[in-house]
Amino acid sequence: MRPIVSLKTDIQETLEETTGCPATCANPAACQGLAHCTAAPGFNSELRTLNTELSPNLLPLSPGCGATCPSAPAIEDDNEEPQSKNFTSTRNACKLCTPLGACLAFRGVEGCIPFLHGSQGCSTYIRRYLISHFREPIDIASSNFHEDSAIFGGSKNFTQGALNVTRQYQPQLIGTATTCLAETIGEDMARLQHELREKHGDTVAPIVHVSTASYRGTHMDGFHSAVRELVGQLAVSGCSAVPVAGSPAAPTGKPVPGTGMVSEPAGEGAGATIVAGGKNDTIALFPGMVSPADLRHLKEIFADFNLPCTLLPDYSETMDGVTWSEYEKLQSGGTPIAAIRALGAAQTSIEFGRTLEAAKTAGTVLQTKFSIPRQLLGLPMGIRETDAFFSALALISGVETPVKYQRERGRLVDSLIDGHKYAFEKRAIVFGEEDLVIGLTALLCEIGVTPVLCTSGGRSKKLAGALRDAVPELPAETLVKEGFDFAEISEAASALKPDFLIGSSKGYSIARRLQVPLIRVGFPIHDRIGGPRVLHLGYRGAQELFDRIINSLLEVKQEKSPIGYSYL
Ligand code: SF4
Repeated sequence: MRPIVSLKTDIQETLEETTGCPATCANPAACQGLAHCTAAPGFNSELRTLNTELSPNLLPLSPGCGATCPSAPAIEDDNEEPQSKNFTSTRNACKLCTPLGACLAFRGVEGCIPFLHGSQGCSTYIRRYLISHFREPIDIASSNFHEDSAIFGGSKNFTQGALNVTRQYQPQLIGTATTCLAETIGEDMARLQHELREKHGDTVAPIVHVSTASYRGTHMDGFHSAVRELVGQLAVSGCSAVPVAGSPAAPTGKPVPGTGMVSEPAGEGAGATIVAGGKNDTIALFPGMVSPADLRHLKEIFADFNLPCTLLPDYSETMDGVTWSEYEKLQSGGTPIAAIRALGAAQTSIEFGRTLEAAKTAGTVLQTKFSIPRQLLGLPMGIRETDAFFSALALISGVETPVKYQRERGRLVDSLIDGHKYAFEKRAIVFGEEDLVIGLTALLCEIGVTPVLCTSGGRSKKLAGALRDAVPELPAETLVKEGFDFAEISEAASALKPDFLIGSSKGYSIARRLQVPLIRVGFPIHDRIGGPRVLHLGYRGAQELFDRIINSLLEVKQEKSPIGYSYL
């Protein structure tokens, strides 16, 4: 028998993403995927047998690495039990590649270009995924390993790549991340950077590196790790290093130790004022991987509280920007590097994420290195989690929540009463990144929906506990599963009979098979336009999600009605 990866690749190549059948199919209209197919004469029986062995409900495999990459199978802990009886390997993972998250975080820094140390295909796959969701160009450089680099190391490629990228893009920063191959051969990135700097000095742009082995982690891990490394490698302590706008104390043109950087004038967002205790009055906000619309909303909220804030990362413009009169190699926008350096003197930090590993976050770095207090909150989704966020801001700022947001909350509560009869006791499957799943579940329970399965491809080992803490009213019988893939979600969905699914567009095949709506949220949204503009956070985000959920349910009711009510 051929290796499983090869067979899976064959399946990937053979199946169409949405039809599940080759062109020879005699009955494409009735197609429910290969495992159910009785109308595909002459179809490769080896693949059919394997498909059935893998899963009775194997989904058409999605493009990108999750299915075909030798490194993608989520064997992260040899001691872990397989997820189900017939578990062989991850089938259509409910997570994405780790460097993908790092690349997105790096594009949230002003003038920063992501640079993958490893195979060229990794950067192609990641660009394809990001462009398809954000509908914006994104350049991701690669050191482009070949066979000899895999054996002797990629030092030469790394040096050449860093020089090329500096010459062509003139970036303020190069954000390097390692792919599976570089991690597997144990590339010593500290040595490579040291050698590069010794030989070429400051002719190469400054570099921040993050280790992102995709066989151990998810895109969220890559995202949070990149943010942590940006803070850990760039932030400096003390007012003398804080580039306060217009301050004579702001250093210019001096080397910043260990970064290959020189200090710069303060950019947008770095205009903090110095307060007692060697701190400035800035709040460091680490929101996690949310949408550009969410980032813009967070900035609006902080401005309304009159709180200076450094949002890291900030890809609200770089990944959802305006039209250009001239092509920009690196889109403008992003957190200024000067503002990241100034984080060492921030007043406090706020991080969103109930499943974050405490020792591995940007907030923890600020806490341990600079004694900056850290506040950990859940993603402000739904009323309770958003209340907690606004209470924290009110406490820090010493002012009440602005009337504008009080009224948004009031309108949300009013609409919940209006729409309750449509949402009550509806059953939902929630999937995606762990913290997003917690936020969505909180919202669903508040509006009367019963989440029957809350699941993620992540394996923090915290999902169930954090979910029960955040949503104590969650029914005891709700299934909470970590490390699930889409084949397992599909199997569970058949038995659970949900009224709708909520998660990324990767759940479309399941929703289509079950003939229920998919509410598209999070990342990726590849089969609709507007993914970057989906607002999840705050009362306003809850309002938008609530309206979409109720309207989708009404649409189903209307479609199924034999007489077609127009007044529901
Ligand atoms: S980094 Fe690993 S998982 Fe990501 S595309 Fe490359 S080989 Fe695949």
